Amino acid sequence: MNILLLGPPGAGKGTQGALLSEELQIPKFATGDLLRDAVRQKTPLGLKAQAVMEAGGLVNDDIILGVIADELDRPASKDGVIFDGVVRTIPQAEGMSELLTERGMKMDHVIFFDVVDKEILDRIEKRRTLEDRADDDPKAVARRLVAYREQTAPVLAWYRERCNVIVIDAIGGIDDIFGTVKAAVTSQ
Ligand code: AMP
Repeated sequence: MNILLLGPPGAGKGTQGALLSEELQIPKFATGDLLRDAVRQKTPLGLKAQAVMEAGGLVNDDIILGVIADELDRPASKDGVIFDGVVRTIPQAEGMSELLTERGMKMDHVIFFDVVDKEILDRIEKRRTLEDRADDDPKAVARRLVAYREQTAPVLAWYRERCNVIVIDAIGGIDDIFGTVKAAVTSQ
């Protein structure tokens, strides 16, 4: 089962995706995690992505589609993948759709985590005190929210025109939200 998690930074996609991965026993794949690892290890991908990530911008679509293709071709992905924050522009949505079709696969569920801006800012500020993410500093966060509004919010509309999008009210306790996510995925 392939599941795409959409939503603004700090909406809880990572947390809920990890719980869903455990529940469904399918891997979770986050381009953000993969890119952060690449930056840490100074791989060619990391060197290409570092500046734009630290500034809170979006990494080039062709690079992202390349890493998605690699993920889909891993033997561990054969039963599906939970894609966390992986599709952030319309060209990525189109490219993802082609990559899946070429492999005889499809996106089974698209889940949107809905959170208001004020809550996002509070959550990211809290995360900054716990993790040391260069892109959680206030200037980069502001740019990430602009990138989200301008480039990623239209992705929600793109999917809504093509499939049923599960909308989750992502304010509340982690367990309560997960209960809603699980019920939505297993009932449809
Ligand atoms: P995240 O951990 O998902 O918030 O991602 C951290 C950063 O990685 C983002 O702010 C972007 O710079 C970059 N990134 C992650 N996924 C993508 C994507 N699908 N497209 C473009 N940039 C991405």
